[in-house]
Amino acid sequence: MPYNAISGIGEFGLIDKIAAIAEPTLQAVPELLMGIGDDCAVYQPSGDMLQVATTDMLVDQVHFDLLTTPLKLLGSKCISVNVSDICAMNALPRYALISIAVPSSFSVAMIEELYEGMSYAAKEYGLALAGGDTSSSRSGLIISVTMIGEVSRDQLTERNGAHPGELICVSGSLGGAAAGLKLLMREKEIMLEHIENNEPYNKSVMADLKEYSEAIQHQLLPLARLDLVRLFHAKHIRPSSMIDISDGLSSDLQHICNRSNTGALIHESRIPIHQSTRRIADELQDDALTWALTGGEDYQLLFTIPIEQLPEIADNKDISVIGEITDAEEGLLLSDIYGMTIDLTSIKGFDHFNS
Ligand code: ADP
Ligand code: MG
Repeated sequence: MPYNAISGIGEFGLIDKIAAIAEPTLQAVPELLMGIGDDCAVYQPSGDMLQVATTDMLVDQVHFDLLTTPLKLLGSKCISVNVSDICAMNALPRYALISIAVPSSFSVAMIEELYEGMSYAAKEYGLALAGGDTSSSRSGLIISVTMIGEVSRDQLTERNGAHPGELICVSGSLGGAAAGLKLLMREKEIMLEHIENNEPYNKSVMADLKEYSEAIQHQLLPLARLDLVRLFHAKHIRPSSMIDISDGLSSDLQHICNRSNTGALIHESRIPIHQSTRRIADELQDDALTWALTGGEDYQLLFTIPIEQLPEIADNKDISVIGEITDAEEGLLLSDIYGMTIDLTSIKGFDHFNS
């Protein structure tokens, strides 16, 4: 593909290309009266629904590395991480506004790839890419997505509603995204070393990543659990509290407990960790439990429900009950497979200013 510099078509030429890729996402959202093309997006809020809004920024070298991240997957991930926050409120995503700052070295095709990923994800989640802003960047690529969702007042779920005696549940499995990241970093090192040594291109210096596809997919193509929110709505389940696991089970459970003024006891043996994550941890001589507790980026839902609601979810293989909410004085504890208890507050997740 010939290299087509963005300067050749300019900001407005680029926005036209973006608008064409975003166009198919508009059909899913009839309440959107104006998408890309005017000074503002315009939409008609539905009836007596509450609106929820969130924003998430992804920065080159902080949140992603373009050496190991295909742009299409990055586009999809930008949408998914915001949808995950909307899901954590038990809400449905409706509109996204996307701001990008683009280095001059980027080609038109690279931005098209990025938006194709966003558009693909937006269609999957049934939300519209409704607008944004475009700037040049003198450092790396920066993508900021703002998303608006809707939820009825009686389905809204916050972090602060957990009560002692309730069950702590988590969807899917944890630690897979961290496993994927570790693998990608290992391959990047191998590749860079190879280049530094001036060795000729040789595909076989890289591991065959097929056998790790599960973990790598968790890292590069995480999916928000909108399916679970739809299930809650269909079954009239309203978790008493909920959060998405973006920083790691340990930090995110602490957020629920702090906001709800409770303690918690979770059991190591019940934390869902995929077999492939354990295998990779063994191979890299690392610890899958630590990844599950602190790795983050799994974008699963962590929620609490009263014990009476257990039968509603008991047959769902994708939901694990990992412990129970306790009184605040009991603290936050993990009971390990030997029956020892560990203070969860001593296990920290990702912190941008402390790592
Ligand atoms: P303004 O000068 O008023 O900020 P722009 O020229 O930046 O307007 O934007 C024109 C239209 O294109 C608006 O509808 C805006 O939402 C949309 N837009 C601009 N940049 C992007 C982008 N990166 N992604 C999606 N929509 C965009
Ligand atoms: Mg603008």
